[in-house]
Amino acid sequence: MDKHGHLIVVSGFAGTGKGTLMKLLLERYDDYVLSVSATTRAPREGEQDGVHYFFKTKEEFEQMIAAGELLEHAQYVGNYYGTPKAFVDAKKAEGRDVILEIEIQGALNIKAEYPDAILLFVVPPSAQVLRQRLEGRGTETQEVIEQRLKRACEEAEGIENYDYIIVNDDLDVCVEQMHQIIKAAHFSPLRRREFLNQLRQGLQDFKK
Ligand code: 5GP
Repeated sequence: MDKHGHLIVVSGFAGTGKGTLMKLLLERYDDYVLSVSATTRAPREGEQDGVHYFFKTKEEFEQMIAAGELLEHAQYVGNYYGTPKAFVDAKKAEGRDVILEIEIQGALNIKAEYPDAILLFVVPPSAQVLRQRLEGRGTETQEVIEQRLKRACEEAEGIENYDYIIVNDDLDVCVEQMHQIIKAAHFSPLRRREFLNQLRQGLQDFKK
């Protein structure tokens, strides 16, 4: 087994419950650690700096980009979002899998740079269920709901770039599926490089 951990990218439309899903996965299994992103968007009620996000000004964020402190970054609805690199590198080196809950553009950038990243997309069981869930939350105006549904429609076009889709129907089942998928993905030769290299080296020695 390779000693370092892997990047696990989780994306999904607003309203698919991926936040709750992540929370449960982390509570249930200590194989994973969640990366805390930096953003220029204002904190929502109850959000704490350093816990939910590192809240930055535009200038601070641009400095982080210039200093190469971000693994990836993207703009989403007028704000910057990005993944601090140092934390991810440290946790991977400790052998932990690091979960990045990021939007699709960032996910594609990660995939280009880290071909061994595991990309998961969380979807609702149907378009109708997504609308019901967004309306049921009662936290957004109808206009915002329509914007988010439109955005989901665009994001849906990029799902084939992901390795797996996870249908969030039953939360409990979904958490288990996610864990099993990630576990199985570790058996791909892409993610067993160190082991394979050692094996090949050993086989080469037979030829001497
Ligand atoms: P929200 O403002 O609702 O917390 O997040 C908006 C979107 O930004 C979500 O799709 C979320 O997954 C994404 N996001 C959060 N952090 C990052 C990040 O570090 N990088 C990228 N590319 N997207 C992020």
